Amino acid sequence: MPGKNIILFGPPGAGKGTQAARLVELLGVPHISTGDMFRYHKKNNTELGKKAQVFMDKGALVPDEITIAMVKERLSRADVKQGFLLDGFPRSTPQAEALDTILKELGIKLDHVINIAVSDVEIMKRLKGRAEIEGRSDDADPAVIQNRINTYKNQSEPCLDYYRPRTVVRDIDGMGSIEEIFERIKIVLE
Ligand code: ADP
Repeated sequence: MPGKNIILFGPPGAGKGTQAARLVELLGVPHISTGDMFRYHKKNNTELGKKAQVFMDKGALVPDEITIAMVKERLSRADVKQGFLLDGFPRSTPQAEALDTILKELGIKLDHVINIAVSDVEIMKRLKGRAEIEGRSDDADPAVIQNRINTYKNQSEPCLDYYRPRTVVRDIDGMGSIEEIFERIKIVLE
């Protein structure tokens, strides 16, 4: 059986969430989205949510310390034995290093790093479009959108350089229909 321990990587607006929802249904593994986890905490006004909100609303990363502890707890649960789809984590090189340590401790091997690639111009267009549809507070302000793109370039993209020598990173063209992109990902997983 092909490995089901998967990282889905890509810039904001790459369509990670959309593809992740389909993938977890196909593979029967938990969808671990740090963005969703933070939004859940924010909505329920937890201590963690209040801390995270400050950073999310600026388009910055929530500090690694908070994020890594949250993911570590999640990965320690029993359902992860089936595999997992990490969506939005890691998003910095220290997070990638921490993930290696966590997985080693749990005796889990990473099988795939899938990178959905989308151009800057397209990202900007998509995030603006999403702002109008979903009304996410971090999608509403062009300055915040720009900041999320900068954060991605400066902090998240370097993760790929961390993984490339260690794991096979599969680059997927993120331009096309949802169905087309899903097909590309499935081919890579086989
Ligand atoms: P996007 O669609 O912009 O990729 P997400 O839904 O994945 O957004 O995340 C929303 C926000 O949550 C991010 O802008 C960031 O503030 C925070 N966040 C999500 N994942 C992480 C992470 N791994 N590390 C730090 N902050 C994160």
